[in-house]
Amino acid sequence: MTHRVAVIGAGLAGLSCARVLRRAGAYVEIFEQERVIGGRVGTARIGVVPFDHGAQYITARSERFKSYIEELAATGYAARWNARAGSGEGGAGQMLPWYVGTPGMGSIARPLAESVRINTGCRVHTIKRLEKGWHLWFEDQTSAGPFTQVAVAVPAPEARLLLGRLDELAEPLARVRMSPCWALMVRIDERVLPEQDVFSDMSQVVRWVSRNNSKPGRAGRGETIVVHASPVWSRETEDADPEAVAEELWGEVSHVLGLPPIRPAQMVAHLWRHGLVDTHLGETYLFSREHQVGVAGDWCLGRLGEHAFDSGALLGKAMNEAIK
Ligand SMILES: Cc1cc2nc3c(=O)[nH]c(=O)nc-3n(C[C@H](O)[C@H](O)[C@H](O)COP(=O)(O)OP(=O)(O)OC[C@H]3O[C@@H](n4cnc5c(N)ncnc54)[C@H](O)[C@@H]3O)c2cc1C
Repeated sequence: MTHRVAVIGAGLAGLSCARVLRRAGAYVEIFEQERVIGGRVGTARIGVVPFDHGAQYITARSERFKSYIEELAATGYAARWNARAGSGEGGAGQMLPWYVGTPGMGSIARPLAESVRINTGCRVHTIKRLEKGWHLWFEDQTSAGPFTQVAVAVPAPEARLLLGRLDELAEPLARVRMSPCWALMVRIDERVLPEQDVFSDMSQVVRWVSRNNSKPGRAGRGETIVVHASPVWSRETEDADPEAVAEELWGEVSHVLGLPPIRPAQMVAHLWRHGLVDTHLGETYLFSREHQVGVAGDWCLGRLGEHAFDSGALLGKAMNEAIK
Protein backbone atom coordinates (compact mmCIF):
# COMPACT_ATOMS: atom_id res chain seq x y z
CA MET A 1 0.00 0.00 0.00
CA THR A 2 1.23 3.54 -0.74
CA HIS A 3 2.45 5.14 2.45
CA ARG A 4 1.74 8.75 3.27
CA VAL A 5 4.60 11.07 4.11
CA ALA A 6 4.43 14.68 5.34
CA VAL A 7 7.33 17.01 4.55
CA ILE A 8 7.50 20.28 6.51
CA GLY A 9 9.25 23.06 4.58
CA ALA A 10 9.44 23.63 0.82
CA GLY A 11 13.06 24.77 0.58
CA LEU A 12 15.66 22.79 -1.38
CA ALA A 13 15.99 20.21 1.43
CA GLY A 14 12.26 19.52 1.77
CA LEU A 15 11.68 19.47 -1.97
CA SER A 16 14.59 17.15 -2.76
CA CYS A 17 13.47 14.83 0.06
CA ALA A 18 9.92 14.85 -1.33
CA ARG A 19 11.14 14.05 -4.83
CA VAL A 20 13.10 10.99 -3.69
CA LEU A 21 10.14 9.71 -1.67
CA ARG A 22 7.68 10.36 -4.49
CA ARG A 23 9.86 8.57 -7.03
CA ALA A 24 10.00 5.57 -4.68
CA GLY A 25 6.19 5.42 -4.73
CA ALA A 26 5.15 7.27 -1.55
CA TYR A 27 2.25 9.72 -1.44
CA VAL A 28 3.93 12.94 -0.37
CA GLU A 29 2.38 16.12 0.97
CA ILE A 30 4.46 19.24 1.68
CA PHE A 31 3.44 21.91 4.18
CA GLU A 32 5.03 25.33 3.72
CA GLN A 33 4.38 28.43 5.81
CA GLU A 34 5.02 30.93 3.02
CA ARG A 35 2.84 31.55 -0.05
CA VAL A 36 5.69 30.53 -2.35
CA ILE A 37 8.09 27.60 -2.38
CA GLY A 38 11.90 27.66 -2.51
CA GLY A 39 12.70 29.03 0.96
CA ARG A 40 16.05 30.80 0.98
CA VAL A 41 16.53 30.04 -2.73
CA GLY A 42 13.84 32.46 -3.72
CA THR A 43 12.82 35.34 -5.90
CA ALA A 44 10.97 38.30 -4.38
CA ARG A 45 9.16 40.95 -6.38
CA ILE A 46 8.91 44.64 -5.68
CA GLY A 47 5.98 45.52 -7.88
CA VAL A 48 6.80 43.60 -11.04
CA VAL A 49 10.58 43.70 -10.61
CA PRO A 50 12.18 40.40 -9.49
CA PHE A 51 15.13 40.17 -7.08
CA ASP A 52 17.09 37.12 -5.88
CA HIS A 53 17.02 38.18 -2.24
CA GLY A 54 18.40 34.92 -0.74
CA ALA A 55 20.97 32.62 -2.36
CA GLN A 56 22.85 34.50 -5.07
CA TYR A 57 24.15 31.58 -7.07
CA ILE A 58 24.50 27.84 -6.76
CA THR A 59 27.57 25.65 -6.90
CA ALA A 60 27.55 21.87 -7.29
CA ARG A 61 30.16 19.53 -5.85
CA SER A 62 28.30 16.24 -5.40
CA GLU A 63 27.47 14.13 -8.46
CA ARG A 64 23.83 14.10 -7.30
CA PHE A 65 23.48 17.89 -7.31
CA LYS A 66 25.64 18.32 -10.40
CA SER A 67 23.35 16.08 -12.39
CA TYR A 68 20.28 17.97 -11.13
CA ILE A 69 21.79 21.33 -12.12
CA GLU A 70 22.79 19.96 -15.53
CA GLU A 71 19.19 18.80 -15.99
CA LEU A 72 18.00 22.33 -15.13
CA ALA A 73 20.50 23.96 -17.46
CA ALA A 74 19.44 21.66 -20.30
CA THR A 75 15.76 22.55 -19.82
CA GLY A 76 16.23 26.32 -19.41
CA TYR A 77 15.63 26.53 -15.65
CA ALA A 78 19.25 27.46 -14.88
CA ALA A 79 22.22 29.09 -16.59
CA ARG A 80 25.81 29.99 -15.78
CA TRP A 81 26.45 33.43 -14.34
CA ASN A 82 29.84 34.73 -15.39
CA ALA A 83 29.85 37.59 -12.95
CA ARG A 84 32.55 40.22 -13.22
CA ALA A 85 34.26 40.19 -9.86
CA GLY A 86 37.21 41.72 -8.06
CA SER A 87 40.41 39.78 -7.45
CA GLY A 88 39.90 36.77 -5.18
CA GLU A 89 36.14 36.74 -5.79
CA GLY A 90 34.33 34.14 -7.93
CA GLY A 91 32.83 35.15 -11.25
CA ALA A 92 34.32 34.24 -14.59
CA GLY A 93 37.57 32.90 -13.17
CA GLN A 94 36.18 31.05 -10.17
CA MET A 95 37.04 27.43 -9.35
CA LEU A 96 33.45 26.18 -9.56
CA PRO A 97 30.92 27.49 -12.05
CA TRP A 98 28.21 29.73 -10.60
CA TYR A 99 24.68 28.78 -11.68
CA VAL A 100 21.54 30.85 -11.25
CA GLY A 101 17.90 29.98 -11.79
CA THR A 102 16.26 31.56 -14.85
CA PRO A 103 14.37 33.83 -14.88
CA GLY A 104 14.88 33.91 -11.06
CA MET A 105 16.55 31.79 -8.37
CA GLY A 106 13.15 30.25 -7.55
CA SER A 107 13.53 28.17 -10.74
CA ILE A 108 16.26 26.12 -9.03
CA ALA A 109 13.67 24.70 -6.62
CA ARG A 110 10.45 24.65 -8.66
CA PRO A 111 11.07 21.58 -10.86
CA LEU A 112 11.48 19.44 -7.71
CA ALA A 113 7.83 20.00 -6.83
CA GLU A 114 6.41 17.91 -9.68
CA SER A 115 3.81 15.29 -8.65
CA VAL A 116 3.94 16.33 -5.02
CA ARG A 117 0.99 17.92 -3.26
CA ILE A 118 2.06 21.27 -1.84
CA ASN A 119 0.09 23.18 0.78
CA THR A 120 1.36 26.76 1.08
CA GLY A 121 0.43 29.24 3.80
CA CYS A 122 0.50 26.38 6.35
CA ARG A 123 2.76 27.08 9.31
CA VAL A 124 3.10 23.86 11.32
CA HIS A 125 3.30 24.50 15.06
CA THR A 126 3.00 20.96 16.51
CA ILE A 127 3.65 17.43 15.31
CA LYS A 128 2.54 14.41 17.30
CA ARG A 129 2.43 10.66 16.75
CA LEU A 130 -0.94 9.19 17.68
CA GLU A 131 -2.14 5.59 17.37
CA LYS A 132 -2.59 5.65 13.58
CA GLY A 133 0.42 7.78 12.70
CA TRP A 134 1.76 11.32 12.69
CA HIS A 135 -0.52 14.36 12.80
CA LEU A 136 0.37 17.99 12.10
CA TRP A 137 -1.32 21.04 13.61
CA PHE A 138 -1.26 24.44 11.95
CA GLU A 139 -1.44 27.94 13.36
CA ASP A 140 -5.12 28.28 12.40
CA GLN A 141 -5.86 25.23 14.64
CA THR A 142 -6.60 22.90 11.68
CA SER A 143 -4.68 19.63 11.35
CA ALA A 144 -3.62 16.97 8.83
CA GLY A 145 -2.82 13.27 9.17
CA PRO A 146 -2.29 10.49 9.79
CA PHE A 147 1.08 10.10 8.04
CA THR A 148 3.39 7.09 8.31
CA GLN A 149 6.48 9.30 8.30
CA VAL A 150 7.41 12.97 8.72
CA ALA A 151 10.42 14.87 7.34
CA VAL A 152 11.16 18.17 9.06
CA ALA A 153 13.12 20.34 6.58
CA VAL A 154 13.22 23.77 8.25
CA PRO A 155 16.09 25.77 9.82
CA ALA A 156 17.54 24.04 12.91
CA PRO A 157 16.09 26.43 15.55
CA GLU A 158 12.60 25.90 14.08
CA ALA A 159 13.15 22.15 13.84
CA ARG A 160 14.02 22.01 17.54
CA LEU A 161 10.71 23.61 18.41
CA LEU A 162 8.80 21.08 16.32
CA LEU A 163 10.69 18.03 17.58
CA GLY A 164 10.12 18.99 21.20
CA ARG A 165 10.60 15.95 23.40
CA LEU A 166 12.15 13.68 20.79
CA ASP A 167 15.53 14.10 22.46
CA GLU A 168 17.50 11.85 20.09
CA LEU A 169 16.74 14.36 17.30
CA ALA A 170 16.24 17.61 19.18
CA GLU A 171 19.40 17.48 21.32
CA PRO A 172 22.01 17.35 18.53
CA LEU A 173 20.34 20.39 16.96
CA ALA A 174 21.45 22.50 19.91
CA ARG A 175 24.98 22.35 18.41
CA VAL A 176 23.86 24.15 15.25
CA ARG A 177 24.23 27.93 15.10
CA MET A 178 22.45 30.10 12.53
CA SER A 179 22.61 33.87 12.01
CA PRO A 180 20.12 36.38 10.69
CA CYS A 181 20.81 38.22 7.45
CA TRP A 182 19.23 41.42 6.15
CA ALA A 183 18.74 41.49 2.39
CA LEU A 184 18.19 44.85 0.71
CA MET A 185 16.59 45.06 -2.74
CA VAL A 186 17.19 48.30 -4.61
CA ARG A 187 15.94 49.49 -8.00
CA ILE A 188 17.62 52.47 -9.62
CA ASP A 189 16.64 54.03 -12.94
CA GLU A 190 20.22 54.59 -14.07
CA ARG A 191 23.31 52.40 -14.13
CA VAL A 192 25.34 53.43 -11.08
CA LEU A 193 27.54 50.56 -9.93
CA PRO A 194 31.21 50.50 -10.89
CA GLU A 195 32.30 47.91 -13.49
CA GLN A 196 32.06 44.80 -11.28
CA ASP A 197 28.89 42.72 -10.87
CA VAL A 198 29.68 41.46 -7.35
CA PHE A 199 31.45 42.98 -4.35
CA SER A 200 32.05 41.08 -1.13
CA ASP A 201 33.15 41.73 2.48
CA MET A 202 33.19 45.45 1.95
CA SER A 203 32.79 46.72 5.49
CA GLN A 204 31.68 45.67 8.99
CA VAL A 205 28.11 46.27 7.82
CA VAL A 206 27.96 45.14 4.20
CA ARG A 207 28.92 41.61 3.25
CA TRP A 208 27.73 41.38 -0.36
CA VAL A 209 26.51 43.60 -3.17
CA SER A 210 25.44 42.23 -6.54
CA ARG A 211 24.07 43.59 -9.77
CA ASN A 212 21.00 41.35 -10.00
CA ASN A 213 20.34 42.40 -13.60
CA SER A 214 23.73 41.07 -14.71
CA LYS A 215 22.44 37.52 -14.25
CA PRO A 216 21.20 35.72 -17.38
CA GLY A 217 17.58 36.42 -18.27
CA ARG A 218 17.18 39.52 -16.08
CA ALA A 219 18.07 42.35 -18.40
CA GLY A 220 16.12 45.58 -18.08
CA ARG A 221 16.45 49.30 -17.82
CA GLY A 222 18.49 50.74 -14.97
CA GLU A 223 19.93 48.64 -12.21
CA THR A 224 18.56 46.09 -9.73
CA ILE A 225 20.89 45.60 -6.79
CA VAL A 226 20.88 43.07 -3.93
CA VAL A 227 22.78 43.86 -0.74
CA HIS A 228 23.39 41.44 2.12
CA ALA A 229 24.37 42.80 5.52
CA SER A 230 27.02 41.13 7.65
CA PRO A 231 25.82 38.54 10.22
CA VAL A 232 27.07 40.67 13.14
CA TRP A 233 25.28 43.82 11.97
CA SER A 234 22.16 41.81 11.09
CA ARG A 235 22.03 40.37 14.59
CA GLU A 236 22.44 43.81 16.18
CA THR A 237 19.58 45.21 14.08
CA GLU A 238 17.26 42.21 13.72
CA ASP A 239 14.40 43.90 15.57
CA ALA A 240 14.85 47.25 13.82
CA ASP A 241 12.31 48.79 11.46
CA PRO A 242 12.94 47.48 7.90
CA GLU A 243 12.66 50.99 6.42
CA ALA A 244 15.35 52.32 8.75
CA VAL A 245 17.53 49.29 7.93
CA ALA A 246 17.08 49.95 4.20
CA GLU A 247 18.18 53.59 4.58
CA GLU A 248 21.21 52.70 6.65
CA LEU A 249 22.37 49.85 4.44
CA TRP A 250 22.00 51.91 1.26
CA GLY A 251 23.91 54.76 2.90
CA GLU A 252 26.74 52.36 3.73
CA VAL A 253 26.82 50.89 0.19
CA SER A 254 26.90 54.37 -1.35
CA HIS A 255 29.73 55.30 0.99
CA VAL A 256 31.97 52.25 0.43
CA LEU A 257 31.42 52.21 -3.34
CA GLY A 258 31.69 56.00 -3.65
CA LEU A 259 28.36 56.28 -5.49
CA PRO A 260 26.86 59.65 -6.41
CA PRO A 261 23.96 60.74 -4.15
CA ILE A 262 21.12 58.97 -5.95
CA ARG A 263 17.67 58.30 -4.51
CA PRO A 264 16.65 54.70 -5.45
CA ALA A 265 13.30 54.37 -7.24
CA GLN A 266 12.44 51.50 -4.89
CA MET A 267 14.12 49.98 -1.88
CA VAL A 268 12.88 47.15 0.42
CA ALA A 269 14.70 45.30 3.23
CA HIS A 270 13.87 41.70 4.11
CA LEU A 271 15.16 39.84 7.16
CA TRP A 272 16.14 36.17 6.82
CA ARG A 273 15.80 35.33 10.51
CA HIS A 274 17.67 32.02 10.28
CA GLY A 275 19.55 32.92 7.12
CA LEU A 276 23.12 31.67 7.38
CA VAL A 277 24.70 28.68 9.07
CA ASP A 278 27.59 29.48 11.43
CA THR A 279 28.08 25.99 12.91
CA HIS A 280 26.70 22.99 11.10
CA LEU A 281 25.73 19.60 12.52
CA GLY A 282 28.37 17.53 10.75
CA GLU A 283 25.90 14.78 9.77
CA THR A 284 23.98 14.42 6.52
CA TYR A 285 20.56 14.19 8.22
CA LEU A 286 19.01 12.74 11.38
CA PHE A 287 16.40 10.00 11.29
CA SER A 288 14.69 8.02 14.03
CA ARG A 289 13.66 4.58 12.82
CA GLU A 290 11.72 4.05 16.02
CA HIS A 291 9.60 7.17 15.55
CA GLN A 292 9.73 7.37 11.72
CA VAL A 293 10.65 11.04 11.74
CA GLY A 294 13.71 12.75 10.27
CA VAL A 295 15.31 16.19 9.89
CA ALA A 296 17.24 17.70 7.00
CA GLY A 297 18.53 21.11 5.92
CA ASP A 298 21.61 22.99 4.76
CA TRP A 299 22.69 23.22 8.42
CA CYS A 300 23.26 19.43 8.57
CA LEU A 301 26.17 19.44 6.12
CA GLY A 302 27.22 23.05 5.64
CA ARG A 303 25.67 26.34 4.61
CA LEU A 304 24.86 26.16 0.91
CA GLY A 305 22.00 25.25 -1.36
CA GLU A 306 23.86 22.15 -2.48
CA HIS A 307 24.13 20.99 1.15
CA ALA A 308 20.37 21.39 1.59
CA PHE A 309 19.67 19.41 -1.58
CA ASP A 310 21.96 16.51 -0.62
CA SER A 311 20.73 16.42 2.98
CA GLY A 312 17.09 16.23 1.86
CA ALA A 313 17.71 13.64 -0.86
CA LEU A 314 19.62 11.33 1.49
CA LEU A 315 17.00 11.68 4.23
CA GLY A 316 14.36 10.73 1.65
CA LYS A 317 16.39 7.63 0.73
CA ALA A 318 16.76 6.61 4.38
CA MET A 319 13.03 7.10 5.01
CA ASN A 320 12.18 5.01 2.01
CA GLU A 321 14.48 2.20 3.11
CA ALA A 322 12.99 2.29 6.62
CA ILE A 323 9.50 1.60 5.35
CA LYS A 324 10.35 -1.47 3.21
C1 LIG B 1 21.14 35.93 2.31
C2 LIG B 1 21.51 34.54 1.90
C3 LIG B 1 22.45 34.32 0.90
C4 LIG B 1 22.80 33.04 0.51
N1 LIG B 1 23.66 32.86 -0.52
C5 LIG B 1 23.90 31.62 -0.99
C6 LIG B 1 24.65 31.40 -2.16
O1 LIG B 1 25.06 32.35 -2.84
N2 LIG B 1 24.86 30.11 -2.57
C7 LIG B 1 24.34 29.04 -1.90
O2 LIG B 1 24.53 27.90 -2.34
N3 LIG B 1 23.62 29.22 -0.78
C8 LIG B 1 23.36 30.47 -0.32
N4 LIG B 1 22.59 30.66 0.79
C9 LIG B 1 22.15 29.49 1.52
C10 LIG B 1 20.99 28.76 0.84
O3 LIG B 1 19.98 29.68 0.53
C11 LIG B 1 20.49 27.70 1.80
O4 LIG B 1 21.56 26.85 2.13
C12 LIG B 1 19.36 26.82 1.28
O5 LIG B 1 18.43 27.56 0.52
C13 LIG B 1 18.67 26.17 2.48
O6 LIG B 1 17.64 25.31 2.06
P1 LIG B 1 16.79 24.53 3.16
O7 LIG B 1 15.75 23.77 2.43
O8 LIG B 1 17.71 23.81 4.07
O9 LIG B 1 16.12 25.68 4.06
P2 LIG B 1 15.10 26.84 3.66
O10 LIG B 1 15.37 27.32 2.29
O11 LIG B 1 15.14 27.82 4.77
O12 LIG B 1 13.69 26.11 3.63
C14 LIG B 1 12.94 25.86 4.78
C15 LIG B 1 11.48 26.12 4.46
O13 LIG B 1 10.70 25.76 5.60
C16 LIG B 1 9.69 26.73 5.79
N5 LIG B 1 9.29 26.65 7.20
C17 LIG B 1 10.02 26.99 8.29
N6 LIG B 1 9.34 26.72 9.43
C18 LIG B 1 8.15 26.19 9.04
C19 LIG B 1 7.00 25.69 9.75
N7 LIG B 1 6.96 25.68 11.09
N8 LIG B 1 5.94 25.23 9.04
C20 LIG B 1 5.96 25.22 7.66
N9 LIG B 1 7.01 25.68 6.95
C21 LIG B 1 8.09 26.14 7.62
C22 LIG B 1 10.35 28.03 5.38
O14 LIG B 1 9.38 29.01 5.03
C23 LIG B 1 11.19 27.59 4.20
O15 LIG B 1 10.49 27.70 2.96
C24 LIG B 1 22.21 31.94 1.17
C25 LIG B 1 21.27 32.15 2.19
C26 LIG B 1 20.90 33.43 2.53
C27 LIG B 1 19.85 33.66 3.60
